Amino acid sequence: MSMNRYRRALLGSALSGAAGLSMPALVRAGNGAARVVVVGGGFGGATAARYLRRLAPQLQVTLVEPAQRFYTCPFSNLYLAGLRSWESIGHGYDELRAAGVEVVHARAEDVDAGARRLRLDGGQTLTWDRLVLSPGVDMRWNALEGYDQAAAELAPHAWKAGAQTLLLRRQMQAMKDGGTFVMVIPDNPFRCPPGPYERAAMVAHYFKQHKPRSKILLLDAKENFSKKALFLQGWKALYGDMIEWLGVSRDGQAVRVDARRREVETVFGALHQADVLNVIPPQKAGLIAERAGVTDASGWAPVKGENFESTQVPGIHVLGDASFAGPMPKSGFAANNQGKMAAVAIAAELSGQTVPAASYANTCYSLIGPGYGISVAGIYKAEQGRLIDVPGTVGISPMEGDAAFRAAEARYGAAWYAAISEEIWGR
Ligand SMILES: Cc1cc2nc3c(=O)[nH]c(=O)nc-3n(C[C@H](O)[C@H](O)[C@H](O)COP(=O)(O)OP(=O)(O)OC[C@H]3O[C@@H](n4cnc5c(N)ncnc54)[C@H](O)[C@@H]3O)c2cc1C
Repeated sequence: MSMNRYRRALLGSALSGAAGLSMPALVRAGNGAARVVVVGGGFGGATAARYLRRLAPQLQVTLVEPAQRFYTCPFSNLYLAGLRSWESIGHGYDELRAAGVEVVHARAEDVDAGARRLRLDGGQTLTWDRLVLSPGVDMRWNALEGYDQAAAELAPHAWKAGAQTLLLRRQMQAMKDGGTFVMVIPDNPFRCPPGPYERAAMVAHYFKQHKPRSKILLLDAKENFSKKALFLQGWKALYGDMIEWLGVSRDGQAVRVDARRREVETVFGALHQADVLNVIPPQKAGLIAERAGVTDASGWAPVKGENFESTQVPGIHVLGDASFAGPMPKSGFAANNQGKMAAVAIAAELSGQTVPAASYANTCYSLIGPGYGISVAGIYKAEQGRLIDVPGTVGISPMEGDAAFRAAEARYGAAWYAAISEEIWGR
């Protein structure tokens, strides 16, 4: 099967459940229309809210999200490179409102799972028949010695798109030619496994244009990473020796950061001095998931593969990065896919219908330079509650792809971004 047909098959399988569902009245026993409250207006949450309304227009759907405008992490590396404007990666909520979703701009503070109540920071309380949490990640401050919230103002993580991304870009612009950009990369699991390596390429693109004598040093807490062979090949082809990657076996694991001095110390005591220091710390599920009691000792929320319902608290579904979804990576594509599947399952369950068999897909594109893209794809399914990958479906795009192939992958990546943004937030 060609790569394109393969991808269309993935998307088809991911949506087949949604297409087949007919919707009788979704009525809560004796008490009006059922209500689903969704926390988080990012990839997972906004998708679930939109699809719940589409599948079951009788349902009351409330989306709780503090930001008026959501800036996506996907393509924020391209912003750092100077290849995308900041505004082009921001999306509002007007079209979700037009689709019948009640959007409340507030932060969810606490969850009373027994009473099915959610408390917001303004003091308002919402009750639900189902609660969907898609709060993304929070940083584990101080898990890496010296890296706390104050340190992030000096050595940004830029792992949530917003002020941190803008700060990192300003630091890159202020850096002298011949400077060193050091990135500290955590062990698995973390948001967007290929993200740091795409970022390295995008920073290199910017340096090549504006500060060609500069270096990029990647200090990594692991030995292998997503699409490693493709990244190493692409970095070399486009940027020569500008990017140096040190895995654990070459003393790449950072143990301490001094953000004020922009210094990083590694396990075996090497001290690296940065001109720009980008620290991506270890992460965990967004705090509200912990408050709801759906996280375990790992810091992530285990879920049932069939519908992303928490294995710990019935009636609460956890999507996207906050969930522990077995082999599915923490990506926007995956969160969007899980949002659709959870919406299908919730709509079916609330109307007493059989939940269709779940099938999930993921594709992650990364850009190494203009006209040079790479990707990884996979299909996943639920088996006895657990998510597993369908044998033979998880793989990277061919190493031997020629220039035309790489250019096509770059175009697919851009098309993916346009399509998924439109699907979730509208324009
Ligand atoms: C640099 C970078 C590049 C990336 N590139 C890609 C890519 O190319 N492709 C891809 O598929 N993925 C990519 N990702 C990963 C992608 O961003 C995440 O996997 C995706 O955002 C996860 O969706 P989510 O719904 O779990 O969280 P998010 O999309 O982060 O949404 C979470 C939302 O919840 C809100 N929230 C949190 N707590 C509360 C609360 N208490 N009350 C109310 N709202 C709350 C937040 O404000 C936020 O809007 C990238 C990530 C990074 C960091």
